[in-house]
Amino acid sequence: MSNKITSIRGMNDVLPEQTPLWQWLEQRARAVLAAYGYQEIRLPIVERTELFARGIGEVTDIVEKEMYTFADRNDDSLTLRPEGTAGCVRAAEQHGLLYNQTQRLWYTGPMFRYERPQAGRSRQFHQIGVETFGIATPDIDAEVILLTARLWKELGLSDQVTLELNTLGDNDDRARYREALVAFLREHRERLDEDSQNRLERNPLRVLDSKDPGTREVLENAPRLADHLGDEARAHFDGLRALLDAAGVPYVINPNLVRGLDYYGRTVFEWTTTALGAQGTVCAGGRYDGLVQQLGGKPTPAVGFGMGLERLVLLLEKRRPELPEPISIYITSDQVARPEALILAEKLRSALPGEGIFVECGPSQLKKQLKRARESGAMFAVIIGENEVREGFISVSVLGDFTEQYKLFKEDLAGWLSLQLKNLKNLNSL
Ligand code: ATP
Ligand code: MG
Repeated sequence: MSNKITSIRGMNDVLPEQTPLWQWLEQRARAVLAAYGYQEIRLPIVERTELFARGIGEVTDIVEKEMYTFADRNDDSLTLRPEGTAGCVRAAEQHGLLYNQTQRLWYTGPMFRYERPQAGRSRQFHQIGVETFGIATPDIDAEVILLTARLWKELGLSDQVTLELNTLGDNDDRARYREALVAFLREHRERLDEDSQNRLERNPLRVLDSKDPGTREVLENAPRLADHLGDEARAHFDGLRALLDAAGVPYVINPNLVRGLDYYGRTVFEWTTTALGAQGTVCAGGRYDGLVQQLGGKPTPAVGFGMGLERLVLLLEKRRPELPEPISIYITSDQVARPEALILAEKLRSALPGEGIFVECGPSQLKKQLKRARESGAMFAVIIGENEVREGFISVSVLGDFTEQYKLFKEDLAGWLSLQLKNLKNLNSL
């Protein structure tokens, strides 16, 4: 029997071995978001349960089955956020960010859903989300999609993902379509899977999303939302398609793409991959012009998306991008020279900003320290032993392919390293 405490199922640690890839992904994403002039917003992880019930919709998988909801000590019902849009709308409205102005915002952080954990599906997962407010025209729909397309390029994933696109029309369009769809599905009720039979009465559009082969067969002959679109929703969709065509972003129209959250209308899109089995959607979003009003604000057009970082990390692990080495200079010393090593490292950190400078601490043989230096990925090992202290110089070993060693005066070390690092970086960028 063990009395060790373990993590909660579906809530995973990201270990030091994995964090460089996460950081690399996050840095690239931040750079792309900055390149489009989007601003970061930081939001609480816990919100009132009511926000999600009203925002996402009572009859959705998330609200019905997946939320972590609890009463706090004051008996208020609180929920760990299952997604970021509702909280972002709440904050933007609460702080007057939507008054007479447009906003292009992004956020990142953990989300929580009680689902069956598997590769690419966990109970605490992480998203980067984008929300734009105040722009009703399809140019902004195109921009958020272009932004994601640029990110895939930056991550080297462009050839792994496909853009799926659909329009859900306006409220009236969907209401008319819902009637036609329900009438059709009722005729074939017995051929639908159980989940879809339930959804048929409660949230019929979600039946389109079913993965059940029998249901999919029935759906082949179902009425199409595309045939129930009003002029305005159609023009909006055509406008978006023309912009994507002009920008050279390929897409496939998926008439069954409906999304699991109630707040979407008009544009919906997903970036999908075939490389992750059933967990194939890496990024999903669309237009939600009704949500701000639904949460108590003025009518405000809005478009956004969320992307799952765990799934992107899984794709990147297969691609193995070359990551920058975190340590470039590894300082080894024996116990006698340790004070000198620590002070030298401080000097080098001032002289070489941006370089990772690692100092061995604690007692261990120089030979072992040098072995660890070679394994660390550092470019240089600095050696300060008894001889060096006595004779007033410092040894530097060039690691990697070279096994050269140099003796330098202490005063010359920073300048020498700076020049060598510059040369090596130039070489690598050729
Ligand atoms: P799925 O159909 O895979 O359940 P979803 O439609 O519920 O996804 P969204 O609510 O649109 O997902 O969330 C946006 C993105 O967040 C998804 O495309 C996915 O990349 C990621 N995501 C959603 N749920 C999870 C989860 N439980 N674990 C890991 N990533 C997730
Ligand atoms: Mg889901």
